[in-house]
Amino acid sequence: MKHLAAHLPWPRIKALAHSNAWALLPIGSTEAHGPHLPLNVDVVIAQEVCSRVSSSLETVEFPPVTYSLTDFAAPFAGTVSVPAETAKAMLVAIIRGIGHAGFTQVCVVNHHLEPAHFKVVHAAALEASSPSFRVVVPDHRRKPTGPLLGDEFMHGGSHAGAYETSLMLAAAPHLVDEDARRALPSLSVDLPAAIKAGATNFLEAGGADAYFGAPAAASAEEGNRLFDIITAATLDAMRRR
Ligand SMILES: [Zn+2]
Repeated sequence: MKHLAAHLPWPRIKALAHSNAWALLPIGSTEAHGPHLPLNVDVVIAQEVCSRVSSSLETVEFPPVTYSLTDFAAPFAGTVSVPAETAKAMLVAIIRGIGHAGFTQVCVVNHHLEPAHFKVVHAAALEASSPSFRVVVPDHRRKPTGPLLGDEFMHGGSHAGAYETSLMLAAAPHLVDEDARRALPSLSVDLPAAIKAGATNFLEAGGADAYFGAPAAASAEEGNRLFDIITAATLDAMRRR
């Protein structure tokens, strides 16, 4: 069962922390996600994963981190990027702050997949953890989970393509502009290869509308299938010792 930390008074938080509940910290970004999705896609996905994980565990979900390092979407309106050092200092403080309530374990549920950002999350988790405070960062890009999420996901089309759009159709369909989505031509760009070749943002990588992959091929059914895989992988990481 999920409790929302923001809605509880401190004695309840303290009691839940001391009952060995898991703290959850969803992390997303505020960044352009194509002409069919809102800026908060990564936050919506992270919070949905927190909800699904909580159907089999007692959890306390903290308010999400909504501003992150997001340089790749920087050329597009609405994207707000935070420098790596600032983002890391903020994350370390937030994770330690959660620990101060008495939680012994926190799962950092990150769904903003920009490599430089994920590096910041891993580094912050390491710095904030201690022998009495376990900080888990599931990373669904890695094997064996990544390949299960499909070819588009593995080859860099995970930004606002069929992968993220399907997750949004499953979690928050009211936030998807269906007319815009259906009209988008598929755009297959190997993002990791483009980055290696020197691209420093989505525009330079060939994504003139801040999306890659095939949004038109997305479906809620596929989104639920993807959420099942991500939820299982997240629970696995939490249970691993
Ligand atoms: Zn995203």
